[in-house]
Amino acid sequence: MITRRRWLYGLGMAVGATLPARAEAAAQAAGQNTAQQGAPNKPLALADYEPRSMLRVQQTQVEKSRFPAIDFHTHISVSAKSEKGIELAAERKYLGTANELLAVMERKNIRAMVNLTGGFDSGLRDAITKYDKAFPGRFYSFTEPSYSKFRQPDYPRVQADAIVQAHRDGARGLKILKTLGLYLRENIISGTLVKIDDPRFDPMWDACGQLQMPVAIHVSDPVAFFTPTDRFNERYEELSNHPDWSFHDHDFPSNAALLEARNRVMARHPKTRFVVLHVGNFSEDLANVSQNLDRFPNMSVDTAARVGELGRQPRTARKFFDKYQDRILFGTDATPHGDEFPQQVFNDELYEIYYRFFETEDEYFDYAPAKVPPQGRWRIYGIDLPEPILRKVYYENAARSLGINVE
Ligand SMILES: [Zn+2]
Repeated sequence: MITRRRWLYGLGMAVGATLPARAEAAAQAAGQNTAQQGAPNKPLALADYEPRSMLRVQQTQVEKSRFPAIDFHTHISVSAKSEKGIELAAERKYLGTANELLAVMERKNIRAMVNLTGGFDSGLRDAITKYDKAFPGRFYSFTEPSYSKFRQPDYPRVQADAIVQAHRDGARGLKILKTLGLYLRENIISGTLVKIDDPRFDPMWDACGQLQMPVAIHVSDPVAFFTPTDRFNERYEELSNHPDWSFHDHDFPSNAALLEARNRVMARHPKTRFVVLHVGNFSEDLANVSQNLDRFPNMSVDTAARVGELGRQPRTARKFFDKYQDRILFGTDATPHGDEFPQQVFNDELYEIYYRFFETEDEYFDYAPAKVPPQGRWRIYGIDLPEPILRKVYYENAARSLGINVE
């Protein structure tokens, strides 16, 4: 029987450490140096392939956004303790200091960053003291559910009350990670998966509606993560680098089932506003996202970590921005020192890519600051948005959602 690895090697498209080493050994045995890897009839590992585009087209560097921006989707702090995808500790770990972040914000014209993963209880208060209160108008923190309390019999009430307290402490919204639907289980880290529309969360959604706190919700993931990691998978390299990102098999629900459960939550809580992150978590299918935006007036979306998806369908994306210009918020998923995930590493280059996509007609450029496109082997095209739409997407829509002044 031929193993998958062996078979890929035969095709010269292996990913990972072992196969390039084998290719090198084969090249040395043949008396050649590795620079000749990839010569006719010599296997070239896919991970070593770094083609340089020979295309000569317009290259625009957009150093600052044309209008001041609010990055609605960043991760400045994370839980100090997590297990099997569940944040268990109130205590926060900080990924970047305020001063370090402010320097990039100054250079890139970012008026404010929204730290979605602000946590809960004492951790949330600590994050708000360090960022929101120390630099008013520059940082806004969101709270998160305390899933460690999920087993308490009165959890629905406890969680709703925690939202009221978080609001008093200064939280500007609630963030839901894909924990709900993909990691949280009946016994927190074991048992059957808890559904996104589980009624035990109803009081929490309602509390957000009453307090006018937007819910930034991430459910599901790129649809390729729900299909086998094989030669047909357009995110083969990404999934090979992060095998734990695959939700194919096991007891995971399908992408469609997750989105349907999320839709039932939006339908059941019409007074609660939902910002469905990552372009409604289905940027591969903007027709589907559009249908949901038409169905749910309480839904809007952000652009985080999906410039690579939007930019590879520039004509469809441009129409999408035209039609839903009041309901799209600029976000990047920026994570300070997140070098392992170049599509969301907080740095000047990342912001310049988003600005170039929004503001220019440039063609065929990288969607992430990385040698090899990290999410899939394609490049993107700018959509050249007009100024009124840029103003809304960069700032006005987020300001309205956060309840801060639009100038
Ligand atoms: Zn995120």
